[in-house]
This record gives sequence, C-alpha cells and structure tokens, in this order.
Amino acid sequence: MMFVRTSICRVISKTSAFSNTLRNIQSYSAVMSKFELPDRFKDNDKSVWVEYIQLALKYKPLNLGQGFPDFHAPSNVTKALSAIASSDNPLLQQYTRGFGHPRLTNAIAKLYSKLLKRNLDPNNEVLITVGAYEALYTALQGHTNPGDEWIIIEPFYDCYVPMIRIIGGIPRFIPLKPKNTNGTLSSVDWTFDKKELEKLFNEKTKGIVINTPNNPIGKVYTLDELQFIADLAKKWNTLVVSDEVYEWIVYEPNQHIRIATLPGMFERTITIGSAGKTFSVTGWKIGWAYGPANLLHNLQIVHQNVVYTCSTPIQEAVALGFEEEMERFEHPECYFFSLAKELEPKRDYMGKFLSDVGMLPTIPEGGYFMIADWTPLEKKVKLEEETDANKDYRFTKWMTKNVGVQGIPVSAFYSNEHKHLAEDFVRYCFIKKDENLQKAANILMKWKSQQ
Ligand code: PMP
Ligand code: GLN
Repeated sequence: MMFVRTSICRVISKTSAFSNTLRNIQSYSAVMSKFELPDRFKDNDKSVWVEYIQLALKYKPLNLGQGFPDFHAPSNVTKALSAIASSDNPLLQQYTRGFGHPRLTNAIAKLYSKLLKRNLDPNNEVLITVGAYEALYTALQGHTNPGDEWIIIEPFYDCYVPMIRIIGGIPRFIPLKPKNTNGTLSSVDWTFDKKELEKLFNEKTKGIVINTPNNPIGKVYTLDELQFIADLAKKWNTLVVSDEVYEWIVYEPNQHIRIATLPGMFERTITIGSAGKTFSVTGWKIGWAYGPANLLHNLQIVHQNVVYTCSTPIQEAVALGFEEEMERFEHPECYFFSLAKELEPKRDYMGKFLSDVGMLPTIPEGGYFMIADWTPLEKKVKLEEETDANKDYRFTKWMTKNVGVQGIPVSAFYSNEHKHLAEDFVRYCFIKKDENLQKAANILMKWKSQQ
C-alpha cells in the first residue's frame, strides 16, 4: 500500500513537473511571440545581398557579384579623408548640420545648379543621406500613405519594394522586355510597352520610380522614354523618384538625361545620387537627394527622426572631391568622365569572354553590370543539386560552389509575379581589376572545355 502511494505520488509529481514544464514552454513561447518580426517585414526577410555575400565568404569564389571596385579609389578623395582625420579643426570630428554638412550641400548645389540650369538652394533643396539607400528610404517613406501606389519598372533595385510595402504602399510593376534581335543584345533593346505603362497610372498613383542608368541591365533611358514618363507624371499629378546613382558611368555615344531637366519636371522629381558610385568609394555610404523644397521637406522629416546627421569627415572629404572635379570639369581627367573611359574596355572584355564561353550577354550602355543569358550552358550545370525555386538562383549558387565564379541572379530584381521573366539571366560586375576579369574568363573557359 505504502509502495503504491509513493509510486502514485511519484507519478503525480512527475506529471506536475511535466505540466509545469509544458506551462513554462507555453508561457515562454507566449512571451517570445511578442518579439517576432513585425508583420510588415514578414515578406521582406530575404535579401539577395545578405545571402550572396555570405555565400562568397564561405566559398571564396572570384566575386563578380556585389557591385564594388576591387581597386583603389581616386587618391584625391582618400588623401582628403586622411588629412581630415588629422586636421587642426577639431570640429571636423564632431556632429555637423543634420540635413547635410554645409561644405557638401554647397558643392552639390553648385554642381547640379550647373547641370540642371537652375539655382538649387543648398539648405532646402539638397539632403545628405546614408548612401543612396537612405535617400530612397526618406523619399519613399516621406511620400507614401497606406494605399498609395508606386509604379516600378522591372528590373528594379531590390530595396524599392520593401521600402514601399512596409509603410502600406502598393507597388505596381511593369517589366522591360528585350526586343528580338539577330545579333548581340544591347541594353537599348530592353524597352517598356508604352500602352502598358499608361494603363498603370490612375488616381491612386503617388509616383513612379525610375533608375537610369539601370542596375542590373545598364539601360540608359532615352529622351523619348523619359518624356513619355514625364507626360504621364504630369497628366496624373504624380512624383518621379529618379535613382541616378550611375549618372557618370555612361558609355559613348549615350548620354545621361536627368528627368528633372525636362519641362515642368523639376517640380515633381526627387533625384537620388551616391558618393559611393561617383567616387568609387562604396564603403563611405554617403548619398543625397535633390528636388524642390516642398518635396524635400518630407524627406528631411524622415531623416531628422531616423538618422539625424551623417558622418562629418566623410562628408567633408566628398565635398573636397566635388570641388576638385568641378574645377577640372571640362578636362578629360575629371573623374566624372575618366571613370567611364576606364570601364569601357572592361565592359567590352567581359562581353567578349561571356560570349566566348557560350552565354548571351546584353551589352550595357551605362553602369558597371552586365546581364547574360546563361541557358545555352544549362546542360553543364547540375541545377538539381540546388533547391531554390528560381533557376537563376540555382545556376548562380551552383557556379559559386562548383566553378568558383559568382554572379547575382537577375530574378532578384523582379516582383514575385514576374520572376519567371528573368530566370535565364545572371548579372556580373565588371568594375574589377583587369587581372581579376582575366581570371574569371580563364576559369569559365576552362570549365567550358571540360566534358
Ligand atoms: N540604387 C542603385 C540602383 C544601386 O545600384 C545602389 C547600390 N549601390 C543603390 C541605389 C544604393 O547606393 P548606396 O551604396 O549609395 O546606398
Ligand atoms: N548596389 C550594389 C549592387 O547592386 C550593392 C548592393 C548591396 O550591397 N546592397 O551590387
């Protein structure tokens, strides 16, 4: 009897220990569920950059993925930064004006006043941001109410969409499509259907985001295309956010046209730039937005409440860079023009080796990326060894792990409903040392020759 009682007691105490544990687990998960990712971020938890940079760290391929130069930035800007670090002026290491370090906003206003042929007010018509990312963020957050629609041309730089969605905005997509050509494709062959674009505009449209020169295709929008977009923006009273971070990287005979310069467009355009691209210092993360004061005001409000002010020494160094380039603006050594000249042979070299290996590249008119149709090589790739839903993800991952050259899957630049349009393409970056481009060519050619 005694034995039964102790056993029952043991069972009871075990059961109660179990139910305590269960209760603890339940209350633990109730406690923890409070800290789950907020709903508005839930569809945005994947980033091609986070994933592919991690992959590059693990497999150490020849990295033609993320866009950054693997050679030195121009010495005038890097020397300026080191001089600033040991400057006699102690204030260069302290907070500067929130909406932009005066020396930099003055330099930017001066440059774009010249390019736009109108006087930009450095205090109210220019905002300095943490890279072009923050300029895009302040523009989209500062001008979106829940339910507002934004038109996005695909392929688009991937952050536009989460920036719109997290605030309840609705992206509406239109893809660029390649025209059928017999020879090598150029980015000029990728166009939007005018009727399709016209149909997307309606009374809920807050704006359209354009990116010229485009990442990843390298398309430089023509005057006719920009005028068509401008006319629709005026007709429907919408904004244009113009991402022009690659404005200086344009290959002859193409010309970069700023949509803000078209008649009646300055009033409704926010233009975005990046010191990272302009001076080949992507790690400096300084960008800007310029546009009319009433539109920039909203961006200032977002900026003052999330970042407040950007790094002072880096802004000072970028300002010195601008001052110097403006002094030699008409000369071929001006970095704004010499960089594209330096990149053009790299572009042509990449176009050739990708063709030699059997891919079908689209030769870009601007920027430092090249997309290529990789599917002629499909039989050489074991796509089944990778598990991603999109074929271009499987191709690029397999190539990184097994061949040792990394590119970026182009469907990352498309909405879910249009990803299938891009699965045949990979993006490679060519702002790399010649020896590294050569290495990439050799690796690919060797792989091609293997059975
Ligand atoms: N827009 C485009 C089209 C880009 O390619 C990038 C990538 N650099 C950015 C914006 C962001 O630029 P930043 O590095 O200055 O934030
Ligand atoms: N803009 C660069 C690219 O397209 C870098 C992207 C990033 O690191 N987020 O590759």
